[in-house]
Amino acid sequence: MTYVVTQSCCADASCVIACPVNCIHPAPGEPGFATAEILYVDANSCVGCGACATACPVEAIKPDSSLTPDEQPFLAINAEYYECFPHQPRPPLAIVPRQRRLAREGSFRVAVVGAGPAGLYTADDLLTHPEISVDVYDRLPMPYGLVRAGVAPDHQHTKAVEKLFGQIEQQPGFRYFLGVDVGHDVSLAELEAHYDAVVYTVGASADRPLGIPGEDLVGSLSATDLVGWYNGHPDKQDLLVDLDTERAVVVGNGNVALDVARILTADPTALETTDIAALPWAALSRSSVREVVVLGRRGPSEAAFTVPELVGLSGLAEAGVIDVVVHVGSDGDLDTMGGDDIRTRLLKDLAARPRTPGRRTVVVRFLTAPVRLLGDTRVTGIEVTGTRLERNADGRTVAVSTGETEVIETGLVLRAVGYRGLPVTDLPYDEVTGTVPHDQGRVRPGLYVAGWVKRGPTGFIGSNKGCAQETVARILDDLDSGATTGRGADDGAIVALVSERSPQFLGLDGWRAIDAEERRRGERRGRPRAKLVEVSEMLRVAHSARDTDARRPGATPPPRQRVGATSPPGRGYPSVTRLRWGLRRRG
Ligand code: NAP
Repeated sequence: MTYVVTQSCCADASCVIACPVNCIHPAPGEPGFATAEILYVDANSCVGCGACATACPVEAIKPDSSLTPDEQPFLAINAEYYECFPHQPRPPLAIVPRQRRLAREGSFRVAVVGAGPAGLYTADDLLTHPEISVDVYDRLPMPYGLVRAGVAPDHQHTKAVEKLFGQIEQQPGFRYFLGVDVGHDVSLAELEAHYDAVVYTVGASADRPLGIPGEDLVGSLSATDLVGWYNGHPDKQDLLVDLDTERAVVVGNGNVALDVARILTADPTALETTDIAALPWAALSRSSVREVVVLGRRGPSEAAFTVPELVGLSGLAEAGVIDVVVHVGSDGDLDTMGGDDIRTRLLKDLAARPRTPGRRTVVVRFLTAPVRLLGDTRVTGIEVTGTRLERNADGRTVAVSTGETEVIETGLVLRAVGYRGLPVTDLPYDEVTGTVPHDQGRVRPGLYVAGWVKRGPTGFIGSNKGCAQETVARILDDLDSGATTGRGADDGAIVALVSERSPQFLGLDGWRAIDAEERRRGERRGRPRAKLVEVSEMLRVAHSARDTDARRPGATPPPRQRVGATSPPGRGYPSVTRLRWGLRRRG
């Protein structure tokens, strides 16, 4: 038996560390690790112990005997990697990274701004040092960022990483300040006065515009807004989504484009058992959309979607849920344009499949670029041009219009051309990249970045782990050198300041009350959770849980104004008694 890495791999390398025979590659430090779509198990070396499956935070590793039909292609995908990149010689030992220790004595306090994957991986890495305690801030009353609001509801296995986040947040020394808008409620200067280091992990909050006429018409939306809408993001619940159109067009062919194409063509009953938000689910159930056209301006070899996501689409076609049509444009065909790789083979298989009349369809179209959106006040169509590929002066393959145009009739155009980071209050900003300028995560001693605000909107959930580790290494350098120590002495002062500015803020217990309520409501309907989508309701649930706890016989009254406050960070705990060593999933 061998284990196989499948679709939802987060590439955070927990499995690599767990594997006793070093049969999972590329490993951190090896060529290709930073850009790997997934990691791969070498069937020839795998001893079938299952340590990798236990360590995997997103339940992506399975024994070959348990693969579902739509996961079968991953056997070949894992094997093909080793045909191309044999890893010889392989030391038959697990890689145990050396744990760096702080050279400087004392206790240190770090504020992390943003409770998404980058923030939580940063907190986790900092908390391997018993001298450091971490406060994680978020504007919203709930954590987990894009894992909660960005991962598609039909990818519930990916959301299993929340279990890892749950372990991170229960470590001594960890504390949440949720519902606190840093830059508005408290300033960077105020945080810097109370912490030894401040790390921004606020992601990339906007979407990139297309910059073509008609983009502001009703019916032209950003795919990232649509994703936030069906995932229950509180800021996106007023989005006007009119699904009374037979065809939707998605511009761009990255993984977000495939996510929205799948959701718009999904069987509503299959989505009903996910954590999709209730009203969007009802709207999708009534949707008239029968066809989603995904436009890629370049060819199949340049497509931004990853192979695992194409396998997912292919699996839906195999299962008869949708038809997938592949269209390479008038100038090309898959034989001449693709390589001899799995991506091209999958596309060819899809292109060869017969269509079933009446079935919902995803059209994956290449060599087609948008020109303008048509309509008076609302979108009635999109004019597109055929393209051909050329090399520009930098050696990059670019799409150039052939001059031929065509109108695709549609009432809904979604731009899925990438996220973009906006300027963050009090931080420097690089207009070109939409990121904060930094050196290995250090903006200056005392101020740091990790995640998309640091490296731009690319990569997978686990990519944030290595990114966070690099930033934490710079924080440790600055703590050790004394460049940033000595400011974070008075814990009571920051609690008083936040309580004054954001009296409603939530700690871990407040988030847990929301989480428990969502799970309770979901359970009644056979769903993992029924998301609360309004901030006021989340606060009400967190407050009433606090009040109920306080009325229990023998309960200690909670501190004034703090909702769901956790105990103070681990000051005063002898380091040997700090429980984190037993609680952490190491990786
Ligand atoms: P992305 O991967 O950067 O893809 C953007 C797409 O938009 C590309 O196809 C790009 O084409 C196209 N594009 C850009 N400007 C365009 C224009 N003016 N006209 C037409 N097309 C244009 O962005 P994303 O899909 O938003 O994903 C962001 C990151 O999140 C990625 O790293 C992605 O893998 C990750 N993500 C992962 C998952 C998953 O693992 N399941 C799910 C969602 C997102 P060119 O290549 O020609 O520029």
